Amino acid sequence: MADAPQPTVWTIKALLAWTTDFLAKKGIDSPRADAQILLGHVLGYDKTYLTVNFAEQPSEADRARFKDLIQRRVGGCPVAYLTGVRDFYLLPFEVTPAVLVPRPDTETLVAEAIAFLKPLAAPAVLDLGTGSGCIAVSVAHQKKDARVTAVDASADALDVAKRNATRHGVADRVEFLHGDLFAPLPAGAAFDLVVSNPPYIAQHEFAGLPTDVRDHEPRTALDGGPDGLDFYRRIAAGVGPFLKPGGRLLLEIGATQEADVRAVLGGRPELEVGPTLKDLARLPRVVTAKKVL
Ligand code: GLN
Repeated sequence: MADAPQPTVWTIKALLAWTTDFLAKKGIDSPRADAQILLGHVLGYDKTYLTVNFAEQPSEADRARFKDLIQRRVGGCPVAYLTGVRDFYLLPFEVTPAVLVPRPDTETLVAEAIAFLKPLAAPAVLDLGTGSGCIAVSVAHQKKDARVTAVDASADALDVAKRNATRHGVADRVEFLHGDLFAPLPAGAAFDLVVSNPPYIAQHEFAGLPTDVRDHEPRTALDGGPDGLDFYRRIAAGVGPFLKPGGRLLLEIGATQEADVRAVLGGRPELEVGPTLKDLARLPRVVTAKKVL
């Protein structure tokens, strides 16, 4: 870290100012937030504590750990993999490079799932491609009598999801199954709600993804096949028998996929496509459908 004038006394304030500037110059999108999260992680402090203790001088050992994290961040590693945790909806989730980092976009799906489940007694929920378990665990945590089945093709992801279920006290109501989409489900299983944030990046989009996503997050959690729609086709084709009459399907989509995904679901006679929900950036983010036959 040698290209900016360096203060002689490394207070929290000076470290944050220097690092924010350094990260910005390296093209990091949210330099101040990243610097705060990583310094807070090293020191075991939250953001408020950092701010009210601006004059404190972290030890040389802590500064060395911080510097190592900053270098890895500049190398493209997502902040959540460096700290091992990401807040999502109302809870902190463990994340490792085996799982996609939970995104605020997906909170739209969770809020709708919880609203739909609210009047139902002991509803059964299926989460396809659970990853960190952020959807499954959030739903189970908010709807105390829900039983959730969470499927993933990655055993390593399921290990992370199971730890998140345990951490948030819902392990007794979330069942984890290893396998491809519907394959591991018992015959005759039927759900009130099926949710998924499937891989939906199209092949031609990979080159344009931010490097921290493209080179660090699991390709299997992102790759939606040649046009990005593979999983929507497979879910649409297979979900019918697993939905109870009147049951709901909620699928996260890429912001440009609304028409395509609505068409894929609309091609199934047993599904009635409902409203598309927008995320906090007002982008189309969740396509909904109801089981009608
Ligand atoms: N929203 C993610 C991204 O933009 C993609 C997630 C997914 O494919 N389900 O990188």
